[in-house]
Amino acid sequence: MSARVLVVDDISANRKLLQAKLSHEYFEVITASNGQEAIDMAREQRPDIILLDVMMPVMDGFEACQILKTDQDTQHIPVVMVTALGDRDHRLKGLLAGADDFLTKPVDDFALMSRIRALTKFKLVMDELRSREANGRRIGVIEGEEPGGPIEPARVLIIDDNERQARRIALSLKQEHRPILWSEARNLAAKEKAGIDLIVLSLASDSFDPLRLCAHFKSQLATRDLPVLIVADFEEEAKALRALDLGASDIIMRPIDTEELSARVRTQVRKKRYLDAVRRRLDESMELAITDQLTGLYNRRHMNKQLNQFLQRANSGGEPVSVFIADIDHFKSVNDTYGHDVGDEVLREFAERMRENVRPADIPCRQGGEEFVVIMPDTTGDMASVVAERLRRHVASQTFAVERGRNQLDVTVSLGVSTSYGSDCTIDDLLKRADEALYEAKQSGRNQVKSRAA
Ligand code: GH3
Ligand code: MG
Ligand code: MG
Repeated sequence: MSARVLVVDDISANRKLLQAKLSHEYFEVITASNGQEAIDMAREQRPDIILLDVMMPVMDGFEACQILKTDQDTQHIPVVMVTALGDRDHRLKGLLAGADDFLTKPVDDFALMSRIRALTKFKLVMDELRSREANGRRIGVIEGEEPGGPIEPARVLIIDDNERQARRIALSLKQEHRPILWSEARNLAAKEKAGIDLIVLSLASDSFDPLRLCAHFKSQLATRDLPVLIVADFEEEAKALRALDLGASDIIMRPIDTEELSARVRTQVRKKRYLDAVRRRLDESMELAITDQLTGLYNRRHMNKQLNQFLQRANSGGEPVSVFIADIDHFKSVNDTYGHDVGDEVLREFAERMRENVRPADIPCRQGGEEFVVIMPDTTGDMASVVAERLRRHVASQTFAVERGRNQLDVTVSLGVSTSYGSDCTIDDLLKRADEALYEAKQSGRNQVKSRAA
């Protein structure tokens, strides 16, 4: 996986060195020599990642980072601060300015590549979600503010078989979050386990293989989106970088600096919450795009799409597809007598009965008003009539409770069935025939099923 990297350093030799290393690994490199230039470049060229030197004239790295991280256009670009070795104050200041990671000078090749890979992987996921969301906004299925907001306490699972060290980490996170130890987590109900926001995993564990566990989390559907923060000793650096390759999100070195821990946890939780919110909104908007708001059944658009697909299959030699149109009898008089809201209640209850009385593979849709359509893939006309008749009987035989049970209404429905035929049957043919059958059912006294033979 390649990416475009913006290298920012006031010393030309440093820029050249990083550029050479990155180009060698096939990254595309652009450069800037101070903070202000970095911001301009980031806005114009949208790099995938920024390597930011701390000490620079004009504008230093902290200030530049802070500006990048508060600008809507650039805040999603990961920033790696490049600091002098062991400079604790700089690291903390960088984290507070919103930096995503650190590298220490002189920059180690392995560390450089691993961190860049981990962050570009995250950015790729983020870009994909953001572009899908932007499309959703453009076609109007996503509305409202971008997700964000303050951070609620996070559920942090600490995995370290050294109980004392695990407790020490838990203690320092307790102020802000809700840490839980692995030993306690075994007794958690599945529901609570699902609420975990972050895993802190110690590489020093002996009783299990931490890298294998990390790989396991990253391969399971239920846990693959959970960020993993690795705790490593200095001599374990290679192992820690391997963990990043396996999908871990960040590393903290022992001895643990509690402020650094807290800042790294906060960054990881903020990213996860952001991704979760974007994902949730995408799911909702997809749902919104295919369902009818009143009844929760599929809408007309989705109906047409599905019908088209099944018809194509039937037309090219597959099993026939059948449909029925169901139209509530004298529905207008329900509205006229009890009001529109009660009418809506009847529509919802009818939709529910439809869902219950069709087969699992059938697709119940609301075509509009008080007209419903069920698509029945791989179904002959005779079978479709059986399903339609079952629904008719169920509707007629049990009254509809409305107004919280204060009223019981007798409702009946008329249904018209049709089945695809030949090799050039269109949606219009199919629905028109079902409509004709429905008309016949209405003409013959309502509350009945009629079908159009193929
Ligand atoms: P028929 O037996 O011939 O089908 O008679 P009908 O009264 O059911 O049919 P008609 O088409 O004359 O009336 C349908 C009514 O459905 C008219 C319309 O106001 C009402 N309607 C359409 N959509 C909705 C809705 O979303 N909610 C409610 N409450 N009523 C709706
Ligand atoms: Mg009607
Ligand atoms: Mg009607």
